[in-house]
Amino acid sequence: MTEWKCNKCGYILKIDKPPDTCPSCKEKCEFVDVSCYIPDCGSTGVDKRL
Ligand SMILES: [Zn+2]
Repeated sequence: MTEWKCNKCGYILKIDKPPDTCPSCKEKCEFVDVSCYIPDCGSTGVDKRL
């Protein structure tokens, strides 16, 4: 399971693949993979945009 965060409203979704439209802000937005926020993921692969 991957965690995705809406880059508009910050809504976090736990799903394999993010939808085109955010269920929270109803906008077509980019979902950023935030799975590496989880401590057991380690320190590599952290998205610098977060
Ligand atoms: Zn959103």
